[in-house]
Amino acid sequence: MSIRERLYLKEEERPTLIRHCSEARYVWNLALEQRNLWVRYRTQKITYNSQAHELAELRRETWLREGSSVVQQQALRDLDRAFQNWWKRPDHFSRPTWRKAGIHEGFAIRDLSVRRLNRKWGQVFIPKCAWVKFRITRQCQDIAHASSARVTKDRSGRWFVSFTYPAPQMEREPTGEIIGLDMGVVHTATMSTGEFLDMPTLLSKGEQQCKRRLQRKLARQAKDSNRRKSTKLALAKESAKEKDRRNNWIEKTTTDLVRSYDLIALENLKIKNMTKSVKGTVENPGTNVAQKAGLNRVILERGWSLFKKRLTDKATNATTPVELIFINPAFTSMCCSKCGHTDKTNRESQAIFCCKACGYTNNADINAAKNIISTAVGHTVSGRGGTPHARSNKTQHSDPMKRQPAEVA
Ligand SMILES: [Zn+2]
Repeated sequence: MSIRERLYLKEEERPTLIRHCSEARYVWNLALEQRNLWVRYRTQKITYNSQAHELAELRRETWLREGSSVVQQQALRDLDRAFQNWWKRPDHFSRPTWRKAGIHEGFAIRDLSVRRLNRKWGQVFIPKCAWVKFRITRQCQDIAHASSARVTKDRSGRWFVSFTYPAPQMEREPTGEIIGLDMGVVHTATMSTGEFLDMPTLLSKGEQQCKRRLQRKLARQAKDSNRRKSTKLALAKESAKEKDRRNNWIEKTTTDLVRSYDLIALENLKIKNMTKSVKGTVENPGTNVAQKAGLNRVILERGWSLFKKRLTDKATNATTPVELIFINPAFTSMCCSKCGHTDKTNRESQAIFCCKACGYTNNADINAAKNIISTAVGHTVSGRGGTPHARSNKTQHSDPMKRQPAEVA
């Protein structure tokens, strides 16, 4: 896991860091181009080692020599890792793409030196630069255990350092409670108990207006003008606000869920596919692209994938691990949670579910959440025997690092 802390730079440190960013990007793009040009029938493969060797040669002959070799090599390593990820899990990762100035501003440090100044401040050593100060927040008490770090600049000009750690364990006691979650557009998540988890409005009315005004302004301004740059910066600041608030809510909600429940079941939504497939292909264009694009935006706004990731991280890493079960989303919205009658017409509208067989009526999302938990429980009962409660006692002592969330087709 990683923890991100804000870096506070002195004016004279800024140029070196900006330079590191641009060199890391340059090396990444160069190495990516080489990999893109590689054709299958060539005998020599391109690997991290071959590219590192060529980088060393390049450094002997060109301006790259003046930059930090640590930063440049790490960019190659990053690219290699990105390709490995993509080869192993093409459904989950996309092919590495170009890094662009202003968007991908960052570099990684490998052999990390970190020291603590006092309770609130620490320093990290940046190659070819100096010890740079960063703020220690409560979640980052154990800075000595960080193995590597990545320095980034976001679009609003703030600098951050992200430390990679072995994930700490969350303290929790078994509760014997189970829950099903239906992720939706109207309510971020609906619980099988009938409660809703709603992400708060991320920007106030005034902030939204301000954002729209800036967007319109940006559209009018001439490319590469200084005014455009400053509008861009202001816009990025608004977006950063939005993102921080969303992440905050996700952290808090996932912690609460993991604390309270021994088993959490949710739909295995293919978020990447959902957000990607809308436009379709040239031969097979998508229908209702505009509406679905709106839905996509909402999905992204609600941060489902981050929610899922943080929930998985926390569930597998708690002192008493939480069982996470992802179930196939087919039929969860059409099936009656009381009698099991499955029919399209059961769902009267976006909000109302009314069973045509037994007359059971409920909020459609709550009905779906109930189906999700009963499917998950049914699966675990038939699959491994015992009630979910008995089982969660059994798994209590297993090693949390070895546990993976179950995936049910
Ligand atoms: Zn029914």
